[in-house]
Parts: sequence; C-alpha cells; structure tokens
Amino acid sequence: MQHYNSVFVLTGAGISTESGIPDYRSAQTGLWNQMDPMNVSSLYALQREPTIFYQANVKHWLTYYSAEPNDAHKALALLEKKGHVRGIVTQNIDGLHQKAGSVKVWEVHGHLRTCSCLGCGKRYSFYQLIHQLETGRYVPLCAKCNQLLRPDVILFGDQMSLDFFRARDALKRAELLVVVGSSLQVYPAAELPGLAQKIVIINLEPTPWDDQAHLVIRRSAGEVFRELITAMGYTV
Ligand code: NAD
Repeated sequence: MQHYNSVFVLTGAGISTESGIPDYRSAQTGLWNQMDPMNVSSLYALQREPTIFYQANVKHWLTYYSAEPNDAHKALALLEKKGHVRGIVTQNIDGLHQKAGSVKVWEVHGHLRTCSCLGCGKRYSFYQLIHQLETGRYVPLCAKCNQLLRPDVILFGDQMSLDFFRARDALKRAELLVVVGSSLQVYPAAELPGLAQKIVIINLEPTPWDDQAHLVIRRSAGEVFRELITAMGYTV
C-alpha cells in the first residue's frame, strides 16, 4: 500500500448528517428541498428582510450548536493526532471537528462562535446574538451603534474567508486529499480538489470530481471511518 506524507481532508455537510444535522443537497432529506438558499443564506436577504433571515436560520443554528461529533469526526481527530492527517478544510459551520479534538482546521465558510455588527464591525460572541433572539427581539442589534448583527459565516454575496486562502495555500502541498460528505457543487470550495496530486472521495451520491478521483467510496462516512480506524489498530 502506498504511503502518503501529506494527507489533507476536505469535509462538507455530509460528514455531519450522522450527528443529526441535515445537509443541503441530499436527494430526499437536503434542506434545499424545503427552502430557497437566496432567501435564507444570502447577505442580500439579511439586509433586506432581516426578520425572515433570522426566523429561517435560528432553529438550524441551535441544532448545530447542540450536535455532538460522530465517529467520522472523531476518527479524523485521531488520525491528525497520530500524524496521518495534516489538516482539515471544512465547509461546515458546525464546529464539530474542533469538538472532536481536531486542531488544524480551516473553516472556509466561517463558524458560529462569533457575530459582528454590519455597521461598526464590533465583534460579539454568537451567544449574544442567540440571547437577543431568545429574549424577544426579532433581529439582533449592536450594543454600541444599534445596527444589525450578523453571524460570522460566509453568506452568498460575501467575500471568501481568510481561511479559504490559507487552505488553498496548504492544499498546494497535498499529496492526497480525502473529500468527505460534499456534493462539490459550492464554488470556490469545489475547486480545491484540483490542487491536490490525488483525490479520494467518500460520498453517498455522485460528485462532479468522481471521474478524476483515484478512488470513490459511495458509503456513509461514519461506516468507512469506523472500518479504517479498526483496520489501523485504533479505536475511536
Ligand atoms: P451538500 O449538502 O451540498 O452535499 C452533502 C453531500 O454529502 C451529498 O452529496 C450527500 O450525498 C453526502 N452525504 C450525506 N450524508 C452522508 C454520509 N453520512 N456519508 C457520506 N456522504 C454523505 O454539502 P456541501 O458540499 O458541504 O455544501 C453545502 C454547503 O452547506 C456548505 O457550504 C456548508 O457551509 C453548508 N452546510 C453546512 C452544514 C454544517 O455545518 N453541518 C449543514 C448544512 C449545510
């Protein structure tokens, strides 16, 4: 079996479905079957209809907040600790890689730990945004200038994050990139596999990169990582 020195992982919403978080594009269960992304996940929607934006999103964010890492997240944390994985590039905003113990994580679409004021840019903990919504406000506002608060996630219409550019640099050194649970349809993140020398894809449904992959495994991420970890003599 070939040994790779520089293995990176790119994860998408599919790695977290086994933690109870629905993804966007799964054929039957994806959230995009129920709502229009431009109405709920764009900067335009936030600025134009903030009440609707927050009503549509807050229940999902609370699910992300209370979710626990599954075996795939735990296996990746262990593989990093043992020196087999250099880092994880994630499109997810749920923070489950860090909860599982992963250290080198690039969150290319942001995260739910903080929020910022659209007016003055002041940063608050995400809890403060949730607290305002839970205590009766329709939209969360900045305590300093009374403008709208926004979550520090990348919305349609935002520029890409610094983490995206850092991940892009790191992946130029990737001998192998393992893509887990991503439809690879969201750009520019979906361009990242092109930087690695070889790619392996673990995904329940076909992706546009399958033809160029060294190996495609069409099974659930939890199952694949449980088997891999056992075969390597570890336990999660
Ligand atoms: P996606 O919804 O477009 O695709 C998910 C893919 O994962 C699908 O192709 C599906 O077949 C596959 N999948 C589902 N469960 C799986 C499992 N158990 N094992 C293996 N594969 C599985 O997700 P994406 O490519 O990440 O892009 C969508 C965007 O959704 C991202 O930008 C991300 O920010 C956002 N998102 C994030 C979360 C989260 O943070 N958990 C949840 C929903 C959406």
